[in-house]
Amino acid sequence: MAKRDYYEVLGVERSAATDEIKKAYRKLALKYHPDKNPGDHEAEEKFKEATEAYEVLRDREKRERYDQFGHTGMGGAGGAGGFDFSGGFDLNDALRAFMRDFGMGGGGFDFFGGSRGGGRRRGGARMRGRDLQIHLKLTLAEVSREIVKKIKVTRMVPCRECGGSGAAKGSERKTCPTCQGHGEIRQASRSLFGTFVNVSTCSTCGGEGTIVADPCARCSGDGRVKGTSSVEVKIPAGVSTGNYITLAGQGDSAPRGGMPGDLIIVIEEIEDEIFERHGFDILIDLPITFSQLALGDKVEIPTLEGKAALKIPAGTHSHKIFRLKGKGIPRLHGHGRGDQLVRLIAWTPQNISSEEKEVFENLDKKLKNDLPPAGRKVYTS
Ligand SMILES: [Zn+2]
Ligand SMILES: [Zn+2]
Repeated sequence: MAKRDYYEVLGVERSAATDEIKKAYRKLALKYHPDKNPGDHEAEEKFKEATEAYEVLRDREKRERYDQFGHTGMGGAGGAGGFDFSGGFDLNDALRAFMRDFGMGGGGFDFFGGSRGGGRRRGGARMRGRDLQIHLKLTLAEVSREIVKKIKVTRMVPCRECGGSGAAKGSERKTCPTCQGHGEIRQASRSLFGTFVNVSTCSTCGGEGTIVADPCARCSGDGRVKGTSSVEVKIPAGVSTGNYITLAGQGDSAPRGGMPGDLIIVIEEIEDEIFERHGFDILIDLPITFSQLALGDKVEIPTLEGKAALKIPAGTHSHKIFRLKGKGIPRLHGHGRGDQLVRLIAWTPQNISSEEKEVFENLDKKLKNDLPPAGRKVYTS
């Protein structure tokens, strides 16, 4: 399928400023993000397409190259340092790019909260607890099936002594003397163009409109204390490094009874000692002798679910890759699994006896005559 023009994908003019590009991308990414469209392949493709376009157009150098050469300018060596588009731009790349620019900090995860938008209301507004981020290391076995993980989280929790109000027992909160309960300070300033009203959050009460007159001794009036507890998180099969799961309301509690923040679990995959992951496929190398390749054999190979038998036909070349359908990793939010690839590697004996040497020398006279000439693609399979 021919690639669509990056500007067209983002719906911006060729002269668009970086800010405009960022804004256009953010809108599309939020609409098509896989977290919002689980199992929707078309949305996933749109998300990837938009992210790829954004990755090029946000970068001055890449954009210049794209403007000059189009899509042909993007592959190969030119991609150094960024994403290698020549090998395809996968969902992980896209999610990572999105997280990098829009995911972290500054309450960025609000995008997916829906009902939460808007933040604090004016006058008597309550503060929101911080979002917490935890990195969770998972083995290949763990990402290969849906699991439930228990995670220890240290976070701010409501103070039991005062019930989270921050006020000592028997005392009440009182109206903030600075803002008279409005939670904000208005200041008028005059300029050439007229009078402007500058509204800022009251620093005495932090926008809450009330203050604690007699603070709770345990939490010093904050309404929260630090506590460690365990949280259960369900992780779908097929996740990979950079994927994240948001547990709404499981972050830090807010001071004095506001909305708690979210807990964001960021997946980090531990490299497996046997299997190499490529998307949802896994690859292993299988060392094998010349004679096994020449004569054929039936061998046992490790898979994610125990051993499996692999039949090697006589006359198989070294580096031939066998594909075991459906023996890979389950597709995240999708159907079926990837494959397991087994690459045969002819293993050359290192210490041979004089008897073996004689066998090889005899064989070699005949085998040398059968060799194809040197060149590209000596064999095709
Ligand atoms: Zn307290
Ligand atoms: Zn105030």
